[in-house]
Amino acid sequence: MSTQAIQKAGAPDGLGHYLTNYDEARRTFDWAAARRALTGRSDARLNIASAILGRHVAAGRGERRAARFIDRHWHRIDVTYAELQRGARRFANVLRSLGVERGATVATLLGRVPELFTVALGTLEAGNVLCALFSAFGPEPLKTRLQLGHVRVLVTTEAFYRRKVAGIRESLPELRQVLIVRDEEPRELPPDTLDLAALLRVAAETHETAPTCDTDVALLHFTSGTTGNPKGVTLPHAAVIAQYATSQLVLDLHPGETYWCTADPGWVTGIAYGLIGPLACGASLIVDREEFDPARWYRILAEERVDVWYTAPTAIRMLMKAGSALARERQYPALRHLASVGEPLNAEAVTWGVAAFGMPFHDTWWQTETGSIMIANFAACEVLPGSMGRAIPGIEARVVRRGAGGHLEVIDTADEVGEIALRPGWPSMFSSYLENPERYQAAFVDGWYLAGDLARRDAQGYFWFVGRADDVIKSAGHLISPFEIESALMTHPAVAQVAVIGVPDPIAGQAVKAFVELRTGFAANDDLRSQILGHARRLLGAAVAPREIAFSDGLPRTRSGKIMRRLLRARELGLPEGDLSTLEGTE
Ligand code: AMP
Repeated sequence: MSTQAIQKAGAPDGLGHYLTNYDEARRTFDWAAARRALTGRSDARLNIASAILGRHVAAGRGERRAARFIDRHWHRIDVTYAELQRGARRFANVLRSLGVERGATVATLLGRVPELFTVALGTLEAGNVLCALFSAFGPEPLKTRLQLGHVRVLVTTEAFYRRKVAGIRESLPELRQVLIVRDEEPRELPPDTLDLAALLRVAAETHETAPTCDTDVALLHFTSGTTGNPKGVTLPHAAVIAQYATSQLVLDLHPGETYWCTADPGWVTGIAYGLIGPLACGASLIVDREEFDPARWYRILAEERVDVWYTAPTAIRMLMKAGSALARERQYPALRHLASVGEPLNAEAVTWGVAAFGMPFHDTWWQTETGSIMIANFAACEVLPGSMGRAIPGIEARVVRRGAGGHLEVIDTADEVGEIALRPGWPSMFSSYLENPERYQAAFVDGWYLAGDLARRDAQGYFWFVGRADDVIKSAGHLISPFEIESALMTHPAVAQVAVIGVPDPIAGQAVKAFVELRTGFAANDDLRSQILGHARRLLGAAVAPREIAFSDGLPRTRSGKIMRRLLRARELGLPEGDLSTLEGTE
């Protein structure tokens, strides 16, 4: 494994990098100036939709391509900034015509389709809150999120509705309208739903943007904790300032450049960097409607002349598995910057970028709560393979430990591991965990926001990821709560107790493994194992359901009855078992 620094060539012809001198950029950067650069104003009026659409259209850039959607048959649909704006305004009017009050939440359960953009931007234009849900979730996680988010309107496809929502609709009294994006074959709509296209057709194209301000909630994203319900993270309209600034400083995205973010819209990256930040930059987005396929991805990078590509470690590892020869069958004359996010990016994957594309992947670190990239490797700076990079301008990031009296102490030595801590106050910082103010408050200690990740920070300020400080699992970039999986498994009649952990997986980073204690009368055999796996997949969706189930005669518990996932993990991985003083059955 090479962890040698990778030096960079100069800026591409005709384009300067946004960040050329790291120390200088940190010294001169200020959020108020970033805000003015985006909105042209210094008061607190701000609406994401008008910041990213109104701005370009008013400046005469409305006829530029904003996005190109590519479907299975390689049909391409292009949408301009002006068309996006007209669609968004129509959808804002649809919401009003349905009597949806400002501030109410509109959820999407959609793949990467053009309607997602119309609905997302129209929701923001109208001053409503956008909640983009992960379309691979099964009915159970969807029900929890639709209930917790008090979702008022859901926009989904006919197929998703029939498969995932119809059966839980009765448990969602606050969900007043479901708007359907029709499949290609026109059939009768399911009962109690409306046709999105028909509503958009009759809606007016003029709309006065809702007079929202910096602190008004714009986005609701769900993320997972170790215990309890998923966390509903709210981000304010001001998030666009940081998403825009980092699209420039970190993704190095210039107006008119072709940009491809492979993230699913159901996770924060898919909205922050699959839509908002890059559109604010005036980029032209590639949106592939299909799932991962190495040959297809290389064709897109080459034929669409992608300039900047933002993807994830699991995808990179799958490309590596397919071999760099496949990558080298094509040429990528436009490609000039590669970035990655979501899980640890191994040093091998960084340097594989050099073998396959002639440039390294640039790791970036952030999380739903931060709303935008916080730590990154920059286009013009050397990359240390295996490191997440340094704090972006405008962000103070350190690693800390709990010292005497529970107070936080900043760690100044390069080899000590601590928790990543950020100084609050950046524009995209989350404003709440929905209906959980205690949990929100607990995330802030001694004037720092604690991210729940463990890392080291070296003398140059580069961060090296170590692991999560909690039991949350990261599989293929998806943050998964063991509690949510355990709760679903517990609904199977044979399951008496269950504990879920993440086990290492060469491609997905981690895979979900469940340890099940059976009720008396049930025999542990392969048949039952497949039944329980099938049950979990139906409820949870295949993307988050366990991949493996092990039967156990007695799960390790603390004396207070809590299952010790940490111990299960240590035993599974052959690691030291650590402090066992609270283990049940010990003296
Ligand atoms: P999410 O809120 O779903 O975006 O997940 C955020 C979590 O993903 C972080 O707290 C980390 O645990 C993990 N993560 C994100 N980016 C990276 C990275 N570059 N390296 C390691 N872990 C990462």
